[in-house]
Amino acid sequence: MTTDATDATDATDPTGTTEATGPSAPAAAAAHTAGGAGSAADRRAFLRRTGAAGVLTAGALAGGTALTGPAAAAPLPAAGPAPAAVPAHSPARPATALPDYAPVPASSHGPAVNSQGYYVGKIKGNLYWVTDSNYQAMFLSTTEGVVLIDAPPAIGHNLPRAIAEVTRANGRPGKVTHLVHTHSHYDHIGASSIFGKNVTRIAHTETKRLLRALKDPDRPLPDVTFDDRYTLKVGGERLELAHHGANHTPDNIFVHAPAYRTLMVVDVVFPGWVPFRGVSFSQDLPGSIAAHDTALRYSWDTLVSGHVGRLGTRADVRLQQRYIADLEASGRYVLETFDPTPFLQRYAGTGNNWAIFKHYLEAVAKEAADPVITKYLGKLGGVDVFTPDNAYAVVTSLRLDHGVLGPFGIRP
Ligand SMILES: [Zn+2]
Repeated sequence: MTTDATDATDATDPTGTTEATGPSAPAAAAAHTAGGAGSAADRRAFLRRTGAAGVLTAGALAGGTALTGPAAAAPLPAAGPAPAAVPAHSPARPATALPDYAPVPASSHGPAVNSQGYYVGKIKGNLYWVTDSNYQAMFLSTTEGVVLIDAPPAIGHNLPRAIAEVTRANGRPGKVTHLVHTHSHYDHIGASSIFGKNVTRIAHTETKRLLRALKDPDRPLPDVTFDDRYTLKVGGERLELAHHGANHTPDNIFVHAPAYRTLMVVDVVFPGWVPFRGVSFSQDLPGSIAAHDTALRYSWDTLVSGHVGRLGTRADVRLQQRYIADLEASGRYVLETFDPTPFLQRYAGTGNNWAIFKHYLEAVAKEAADPVITKYLGKLGGVDVFTPDNAYAVVTSLRLDHGVLGPFGIRP
């Protein structure tokens, strides 16, 4: 196996204990909350520096309020003082020290967002989607009100703006009457509370259990829950909600709009991209892999995946299946053939078992990732960013779920 540009990222180190990312990571978080991000002006500056900045040039829609409008930037909650043990973080670390990556294929990107940082588009009929080019929500415009599926905080107050834009044009009521949660994660439903109390929230039973434990005012508890299936009928429209077992999270559900041949399932498939780190932090990786087949058993043409800037196709699901299958095949081969002797020689004498396995597993993951990176370069965005992390997750699942332990298997 060759070494390549991924060395620079040291991304096979999920523990973040390398020199480059070590003590600065918690410090960065503390500096972020304790530092200057608290004001609306700072928040706007942050948005301009990040995703919003690169996409302001094209596709601007007329008639929106300016980014400086009163609701454009909710101030971050005040943070307490940084813990004494956290060292000061220098925000001036030069960007030039960060690694380069392969270009993202043009086909990985979606439509340009408007001057307020969102794009809203019709999927089919009365079904729409909204994106900020990194997160996605979906909504149904019915004769009785709007059914919104997920409320990512990254889109936040642009959700009601996007909905108003559509319902002003079609003459249907613009009030959100129903809010469906795909799962409990804050990054997909953290803007739930901006729709107030007078909305029916629908989620899986496990989502309610998780939210009850978290006690988060931004994520009010669901009013309606279900275990296996739930049919939501509002104003002549219908959504079929279903839980098919754990995948990304224990509570992650499928939302099907049969009339519009559209499926929404979040944090499982990333159209045009490799999955986010650790195969999207899968809590049940075999379940996440099975969720691809489950998705394909539904009848649909359009996938709303909750992430990245464009809608998905059935070909996107099949391509990601092949990517993960290649990681599994590569991981299995490396686990069965990789010689751990150098790690044992280096650390066994010190009695440090953790050091042996940290370096053995990271080396296995890197070796498993290399040919997969080569194969999918130019086909999927971020392949050289997160494939080592994804390989680490796949290798862990092969070992713990499937018993592929190579030289660490049942002792002869
Ligand atoms: Zn999630």
